[in-house]
Amino acid sequence: MSNEYVKRRVALKDMRPCMICSKPATTVLYNQTLRDWIYTCDIHLQDNPSFVVPVYSKEYNDAVTELQQVKQKLKVQASNGSGSWDTWVNKMFTKKKPDEDKDIDRKDVAETNIDTNDESKNSTKTTENYQEEYNRLLDKMTDLQSKVRNYKLDNIMFQHRLRTKRAQEIAIAKRKKEEANYSNTNPEELEKSFNFPTVPNVDPSKK
Ligand SMILES: [Zn+2]
Repeated sequence: MSNEYVKRRVALKDMRPCMICSKPATTVLYNQTLRDWIYTCDIHLQDNPSFVVPVYSKEYNDAVTELQQVKQKLKVQASNGSGSWDTWVNKMFTKKKPDEDKDIDRKDVAETNIDTNDESKNSTKTTENYQEEYNRLLDKMTDLQSKVRNYKLDNIMFQHRLRTKRAQEIAIAKRKKEEANYSNTNPEELEKSFNFPTVPNVDPSKK
């Protein structure tokens, strides 16, 4: 008995009450090993780990890993950018301002300014690339999320399904046994309840 459920759709005519909210549902989670069906609204399958968690494909998990890497790069870039800007601003105001040679200072500042501008242009371009990559991966994840078909029940929920299933099986087996007993004992019961007329003993010697 494995905790593996596959999402399926049933026709409108076959819809049944949702296990969670009792509204009519056409989505069913099917467990082949347990022969278990759970009717549910699609909404309960999302962000509801106390009921069910999706089992994502390798493609999805790879996209998540990639996304995290891009996110990290964006973060590093953002902190590097502001870091260097802060350093430059501090240098300018704390060290260079008291300097007496203003002409040289201005020239330095102007040069540094140009450099910083170039740098920030480059980094903006790369940031945009990462941002594009990030959005692309996010779209891919959303798409794969909507296509997920495999689910795992929360363990407590699954244990409950197992017990319910076992109880059902016992009840069915009991009923079958009773039916079998009834049909088996029926002829005997008939024999016992009816008094067949006794066949007169015939002594062949008296013939
Ligand atoms: Zn529901």
